[in-house]
Amino acid sequence: MAETKKILIAEDDPASRELLLEVLESLGYEVIPACNGAEALQKVSETCPDLVLLDIQMPILDGFAVLRQIRQDPRLAALPVMALTAYAMKEDQGRMLLAGFDAHIAKPIDVTGLRLQIEHYLRTKVNGR
Ligand code: MN
Repeated sequence: MAETKKILIAEDDPASRELLLEVLESLGYEVIPACNGAEALQKVSETCPDLVLLDIQMPILDGFAVLRQIRQDPRLAALPVMALTAYAMKEDQGRMLLAGFDAHIAKPIDVTGLRLQIEHYLRTKVNGR
């Protein structure tokens, strides 16, 4: 049996957070929820997730600020981090990639697309080490 992969979800909207949690748990992942950017950073260092999903608009620290801090930590430099945004606009996607996110997921979330992205990045990470 492969080890269970851990995914940290940082999302301030309770309904969205709960939905993501249920979807990812149903796919067999261990899910660590966080309600804001500060909690996300704390839990990233506590739990060493395999992948992080960051909402962009969050209180205390937004997704960009959380990403910057993650990338400044050499131990986390290779951690796959995906941005979650409410806008499906192309220019948004470019902005997320420029900021250093590995991928951009538009809300409302397409579950199949999300699953494929996650599988892609988890596989990349395993092979890359
Ligand atoms: Mn939000």
